[in-house]
Amino acid sequence: MGDDRDTELADTLAEVGRRVGQAMTDALERIRPAFDALAEVANRPEVRAVIERAEKVMRRRPCLCFCSRAHPADRGVCEAFDAVITGQYSSDLLGDIDVPLCAPCAAARAADEFAG
Ligand SMILES: [Zn+2]
Ligand SMILES: [Zn+2]
Repeated sequence: MGDDRDTELADTLAEVGRRVGQAMTDALERIRPAFDALAEVANRPEVRAVIERAEKVMRRRPCLCFCSRAHPADRGVCEAFDAVITGQYSSDLLGDIDVPLCAPCAAARAADEFAG
């Protein structure tokens, strides 16, 4: 009779396993539309554009111009995350060091230097 009990137990375990498996499948089926919707949103051109722009900003060099000192007259021109050239920053402490500058800052610095 022991064989019957084992078979019963095996059947019960199989049934439990089947139910758990079914419950997992059901749960996955239920959240799948959410995942699909998310994937769809992430693939939309306007969303991709935002993501790509964010990635580009992260790759960019920040402008390290000391605007208020280097060109006090044009402090607002700085494109802080669009440094395109390397300028020189003269410091009493560090000497001449290379700093990334954005184009408007470079122009403002040149104008400031020219103005005196
Ligand atoms: Zn500046
Ligand atoms: Zn700048």
